[in-house]
Amino acid sequence: MNLKIIDLARKNIRDIQPYQSARRIGGSGDTWLNANELPISTSFKIDIENLNRYPQFQSKKLISHYSDYIGCNEDQILITRGADEGIELLVKAFCESKIDSIITCPPTYDMYRICAQLFGINNKVCFRLSNWSLNILDIKKKINNVKIIYICNPNNPTGNIISIIDIEKILEISFGRSLVVIDEAYIEFFSKGSCVSLLSKYKHLVILRTLSKAFGLASIRCGFVVSNLEVIKILSKVIAPYPLPGPVEQIAVSSLKKENIFFMKDCVHSLIKTRNWFFSELKKCGFVIKVFNSYTNFLLVKFSCVESIINSLKKKGIIIRDQTEKYGLQECIRISIGTRSECLNFLKVIKNI
Ligand SMILES: *Cc1c(COP(=O)(O)O)cnc(C)c1O
Repeated sequence: MNLKIIDLARKNIRDIQPYQSARRIGGSGDTWLNANELPISTSFKIDIENLNRYPQFQSKKLISHYSDYIGCNEDQILITRGADEGIELLVKAFCESKIDSIITCPPTYDMYRICAQLFGINNKVCFRLSNWSLNILDIKKKINNVKIIYICNPNNPTGNIISIIDIEKILEISFGRSLVVIDEAYIEFFSKGSCVSLLSKYKHLVILRTLSKAFGLASIRCGFVVSNLEVIKILSKVIAPYPLPGPVEQIAVSSLKKENIFFMKDCVHSLIKTRNWFFSELKKCGFVIKVFNSYTNFLLVKFSCVESIINSLKKKGIIIRDQTEKYGLQECIRISIGTRSECLNFLKVIKNI
């Protein structure tokens, strides 16, 4: 027998290039500005008894806290293993392989495209316009057989927002045809841009949320799908039997207590101040062609001689996210907003080149 294990794998898995997460790419140094994490950590106490028992399928307590926090009904929420699992559950539950398509709007978060590829679903690409707004006409043209339109708002890695007017246009053209998924991973940095209030008007709207960014809990892997009951019921059919570890649920519940939400909002407020200061400092630097406006905790920056910038940062142990392979971002890097002193480290390197 000459069979190789790789030949046993599904064809599209054999060919796949897995998602290059910040941690998979790695790096060495002590200034981590590559994964849009919060630069500070809070500690939580957990009760580690009863680990012999399975957790609830969906924690009532966590759902109740989260629905209070965002202002929706409890039956509109599904707790997931990070927002990433929400992206995958939607494809699994709604898209028929080789028949259905999704729409993605690059430059954007890569997981939508990779999930589709994993499940053999066609990805129709509708590139953004030069100001990073959506090409609505192109979306309208390509909407046949599309089950899901993924829109990241605010968008990673460009940092811009899509107006509610444009989102409503997409909701209108997709009505009765496809789901519109708004990935609000960074919404705490622009909270008035949330689409939660549109849920009662549009049954095909789905919102993804996470505790990984503004809440500073990337390590616990906790996210939420927020939609209407019918969508939640369907996703509940495909999610794992016990999706969320008990200790994770406890930490997530604590993070949503009143005083911790205040603390999160404080952090967001001071990160935005740091971002605005960093933005104006970067604009003064040589080699900087453009700093893109951001409604998030990161900045997308276009440099001349980007290769040497990346190398100099690497030598000094400053880890950023290289975007130069991405469509439309040939000379760009993405920098997460760290502490003020981490941002100063960055500026020092750039100024010494
Ligand atoms: C970080 C990020 C996610 C992943 O969130 P998790 O909850 O950590 O899985 C999803 N979407 C976007 C746009 C992100 O930047």
